[in-house]
Amino acid sequence: MKCPKCKLEDLKEVEINGVKIDRCEYCGGLWFDKDELKITRDKRDKDLSWLDFDLWEDESKLMANGKSVDCPRDGKPLFKIKYGNTDVMVDICLDCHGVWLDRNELDKIIAELKQKINSETIPEYISDLGKEIAELISHPSKADVELRHIMIVMKMLEYRFLAQHPKIAELISVLPD
Ligand SMILES: [Zn+2]
Ligand SMILES: [Zn+2]
Repeated sequence: MKCPKCKLEDLKEVEINGVKIDRCEYCGGLWFDKDELKITRDKRDKDLSWLDFDLWEDESKLMANGKSVDCPRDGKPLFKIKYGNTDVMVDICLDCHGVWLDRNELDKIIAELKQKINSETIPEYISDLGKEIAELISHPSKADVELRHIMIVMKMLEYRFLAQHPKIAELISVLPD
């Protein structure tokens, strides 16, 4: 499977906490097959609490921004989906429901989360976790931070972004050709 952006490099499969994703070693882009996003739910998993800071909670803020590159899986066009006033742009395939993230989109999502953590009134039960997350984000020297970031973003994509698929499909259906 070629990188949809560079079109030269083959995507390399990497495994994070037992979940496989495809990554371009050249541009750092990430491809998530829908099936790959079926992450086993584990109540002990503290990362799930990131969902309290979910970026895609309000489906009325989703916007379709036209076509992007072609799907690496089936060659259909990916569509750019933006959320509210954030700069975060995610590319989705309506056919296979795969999701593409440019390398800098991962950083933007994490930056948005950081801002949300700092600006929102956080319920007490998760305030300590919020601090822990903020700490993790602000110390990128920790070796496993990037992988944890990817994991967190994957979970948000699976539990919230793809869950809004009917709304996304509707937005795309009214785009001009
Ligand atoms: Zn690439
Ligand atoms: Zn596809």
